[in-house]
Amino acid sequence: TIVVTGATGHLGRLALEALLARGVAPEQLVAGGRKVEKLADFADRGVRVVPIDFTVPETLDAAFAGAEQVLLISSSEVGQRAAQHAAAIDAAVRAGVSHLVYTSAPKATTSPLILAPEHKATEEAIAASGIQATILRNSWYTENYLQAVQQGMQTGEIVASVGDGRVASASRKDYAEAAAAVLIDPSLRGRVYELSGDVAWNFEDLAAAAAEIAGREVVYRDVSPEEHAAILSGFGLDEGTVGFVVALDQNIKAGLLAETSGDLARLIGRPTTPLLTGLREALATV
Ligand code: NDP
Repeated sequence: TIVVTGATGHLGRLALEALLARGVAPEQLVAGGRKVEKLADFADRGVRVVPIDFTVPETLDAAFAGAEQVLLISSSEVGQRAAQHAAAIDAAVRAGVSHLVYTSAPKATTSPLILAPEHKATEEAIAASGIQATILRNSWYTENYLQAVQQGMQTGEIVASVGDGRVASASRKDYAEAAAAVLIDPSLRGRVYELSGDVAWNFEDLAAAAAEIAGREVVYRDVSPEEHAAILSGFGLDEGTVGFVVALDQNIKAGLLAETSGDLARLIGRPTTPLLTGLREALATV
């Protein structure tokens, strides 16, 4: 069987759908998360639904018992993730799992990206565990920009401090299909994939996409990091969040999310979802 952690989240749900669409039998799938009530539709389709809380090792042991493969979707609890993922890796070792797939971040082991350290720690823990593993270093989701685009549609401008920085985003669905591909095809295992969209767009492209969707003028306004922080604080964001957003923009400015390896398109056998299409699809779900 294949266990999917974080199945209650956006990516996990899409990974399950991709596995089912590619012909994996529901009985071969185990879907786990804390809020298992979100998985009722999968249970109805014959997928086994189990509680998984990374902070409660017994839930991991029960979920992984007898599993051949685990898709470890990185937790959303930033700051707790290295310990949470280590707990999952330990449980996978105890259960004798033969293949672990982990969703990491671009160049996680060497990147100065502010989110990289927890992924680096996890990749190292996986390597130390000895389990055969496939690392999916996911770049950004196009869906991350939904709010910026909505704001652009309302106010006519998208404000950020990325300069001409580029983001090679892809839709969550694209990354989910890649996860399904490496779980299904044994010849794809045991590698590190740098997954990103085919196109690295800049924030003028993002504003143009917002303009296209809204049918009005939308421009990108580039501000200094200091000005950006002041604007975000003015919106009532707490200091930690402001620091995080501005630091991430400087990471983008430095090109840390701009690389396009082509790995994602190769794994899914089609071009990645273009920015405009991905934004339109994301908007349709809100
Ligand atoms: P979601 O926030 O939709 O899902 C996060 C998942 O993590 C949920 O299923 C949640 O389970 C689970 N989770 C969180 N804490 C725990 C815990 N203590 N024990 C067990 N499960 C836990 O994120 P996405 O699906 O959109 O993205 C998947 C992951 O990718 C994120 O968790 C994050 O690590 C990373 N990410 C990547 C981004 C990118 O652009 N590449 C952007 C945002 C996140 P439950 O809800 O049941 O508690």
